[in-house]
Amino acid sequence: MGWTDMSGRQLERRAGVLAGGGAVGMLAPSIASAAATRTRRPLSSRVYLPACAIAAVAFGLVGIGLWTGFGGADFTSYMTNVRVVVAGPASLLVIGVFLIAERVRPAQRRPLIARGHRHDLIFAVFGSLFVVPLVAALSLSFSEVVRNALPWIVLPRSGVVPRWLVVAVIFVGMDGLNFLAHLANHRVLALWRFHEVHHSQEDLNVLSVFRTHPLIHFSYLVALVPGTVLLANGTLSTTVLVVYAAIVAFAHSNTNLGFGPLGRILVSPNFHRIHHQLDGPQDVNLGFALTIWDQLFGRAVFPTEETIRTDTGLPGRPLIVEQAGERPRHFYVFFAQLIGPFRPLNNSTDLPPVRESARAPGHQAAA
Ligand SMILES: [Zn+2]
Ligand SMILES: [Zn+2]
Repeated sequence: MGWTDMSGRQLERRAGVLAGGGAVGMLAPSIASAAATRTRRPLSSRVYLPACAIAAVAFGLVGIGLWTGFGGADFTSYMTNVRVVVAGPASLLVIGVFLIAERVRPAQRRPLIARGHRHDLIFAVFGSLFVVPLVAALSLSFSEVVRNALPWIVLPRSGVVPRWLVVAVIFVGMDGLNFLAHLANHRVLALWRFHEVHHSQEDLNVLSVFRTHPLIHFSYLVALVPGTVLLANGTLSTTVLVVYAAIVAFAHSNTNLGFGPLGRILVSPNFHRIHHQLDGPQDVNLGFALTIWDQLFGRAVFPTEETIRTDTGLPGRPLIVEQAGERPRHFYVFFAQLIGPFRPLNNSTDLPPVRESARAPGHQAAA
């Protein structure tokens, strides 16, 4: 639906319906006043231009990929592999097991069909159907651009390094770069706007791993670099990627598990819940699978009895969420969350909750 297709009266009615509803609600007064008074206001007061710039670069990258035929790569088979990792039989089975674990040993007791669970299911279905092709196109385009711009980055084939070691290096390198990209998501405001929807979940659960803005994948493309560098020596198999995705998914589950001593190395549900905590900084425990990066960068906060059941979400609900209001209005909220990154910036509520030391002098974090 295009806003520009609407008459002034339609816009006013839409604005009235939307007013007070987070992302769309914040756009609504702009639309209403524009329609009513016909006054021209700068574009920057109607949309968040840095988010538009990120969208433009992402789609520009896909355009380059399409133009170059993805360097001869087979788009369909690559996309099928991505889909197998995201929603193939093994991944669905693993998620089913995690759903049972959530019922057996929940961190927070809540119904199976809680609002947040239903909403994340929409993200899961949408992601499996429509985001997978975008991720495949972005990934192939990025790899093609990197190989063309920096051909020396691809190391020659070495006969002496065992394949298991190559796979281990790619795995650890990918996880480290995912950590850095995730850190950037919390520190670069334009990226935070896309990452915000993931942190808006108040009923954290295993399906929350799917609760991401489609364009956030642009920020994680850098994690493809280790695989590109070692391309001639080995690649991560689909099985390894399914295991990696399973670790990341399980970290989001509403399960009270800390993994014991293994929790010092692997990201557990209790560890990642602290990253989503409502009352505290969220630029901690940024690791995807390994906790070593958080420990190296002084960002690891290990679970305690108090943190295991801590509430999650964003203080002040800067982005509309399904838990607000009498009815969940899932599809309306879903749409609003997708356009959320482009809403004008409100400095008093739209900044990410970060550690005190990370705040710019005189800057108030979201409260
Ligand atoms: Zn995060
Ligand atoms: Zn998360």
